[in-house]
Amino acid sequence: MTSAPFDWIDEQARARERAGLVRGLRPRPAETTLLDLAGNDYLGLTRHPEVTAGAAAAARRWGGGATGSRLVTGSTELHAELERELAAFCGFESALVLSSGYAANLAAVTALAPHGSLIVSDAGNHASLIDGCRLARGTTQVVPHADPAAARKALGTHEGPAIAVTDSVFSVDGDAAPLAELAAVCRESGAGLVLDDAHGLGVLGAGGRGAAHAAGLAGAPDTVVTVTLSKSLGSQGGAVLGPARVIDHLVNTARTFIFDTGLAPASAGAALAALRLLCREPERAARAREVATRLYELLVGEGFSAVRPDAAVVSVRAPSPGAAVHWAADCRSAGLAVGCFRPPSVPDGVSRLRLTARADLSDTQLAEVVAVISRTAP
Ligand code: PMP
Repeated sequence: MTSAPFDWIDEQARARERAGLVRGLRPRPAETTLLDLAGNDYLGLTRHPEVTAGAAAAARRWGGGATGSRLVTGSTELHAELERELAAFCGFESALVLSSGYAANLAAVTALAPHGSLIVSDAGNHASLIDGCRLARGTTQVVPHADPAAARKALGTHEGPAIAVTDSVFSVDGDAAPLAELAAVCRESGAGLVLDDAHGLGVLGAGGRGAAHAAGLAGAPDTVVTVTLSKSLGSQGGAVLGPARVIDHLVNTARTFIFDTGLAPASAGAALAALRLLCREPERAARAREVATRLYELLVGEGFSAVRPDAAVVSVRAPSPGAAVHWAADCRSAGLAVGCFRPPSVPDGVSRLRLTARADLSDTQLAEVVAVISRTAP
């Protein structure tokens, strides 16, 4: 008997079910009493009145969508303003805004890794960097996590263009890349450094200027940074920051920039409002880091195995994928939303709860969080 075209999908679904790895969508209610440590709103800005007003004003002025690619009709004054202010804030010559951080990573990696080039990629990198490597014409060599010596070895023998790509802060465990060492390795071997600062912008560096700024790499001619507008800046979208010639190259060659509709004006307006707020209230960045450290200390004090946070992500180990799912569900029932990471999102097979230490959490809320985590622990 011939099978129907998608029958093979059912076998995969059954395998996921057997392994306790089924994923599904659950709409988030607009109004809720849940304490949210699952999202990435590190600075608590997504519902800030200035941010929502920025989005609304932009939509009224420019419309609900960008109407076309950035190179056709999709660039507004707002996009240009956001690019100027983002570049200036992080200390880079130029910036290019794209419709997501995912698209920004694909753009940066593919445009900077032509035929014959080498990409050295950290084993813990985010999926969007991995996909950038897969799409690029260059050859990728994956090196062990946070290992500059391995990166040096990989870059050592290569002739021709080369880049090292890494998350600045790894999204699940919240640990930081050894940027100073990695930058030194890149310089030694004449390679560029592409840094995904999705979790560093708004949290690391003076006033939240990001990981590159903190490591003294802001404005470096051999450093390119990608960011998302969807975490600290409480909006949606992404950007690439770097030397003007790199940004010009992306405008002319990066397919996820050229063939994608521009970022919606509302998202540009929200991100710009959030960025201006952060410039006025730089203490938000330090507070996010302080909350993360406090949360980590409280959890370790209760006997949990957690990773010391370098930014605003706190990762707590769970005994198994199934236990992680139940733990997260029990937290939710007790009024606390937490992230739950299982394979294949975590290639090492270790499941965790992922907590985001928002700058706007009070000490009382932190104590509540730890009480719920302890009470519901498997
Ligand atoms: N890089 C990292 C490290 C991320 O965590 C994410 C978002 N999960 C992205 C890139 C993608 O950003 P966006 O959600 O804006 O597409």
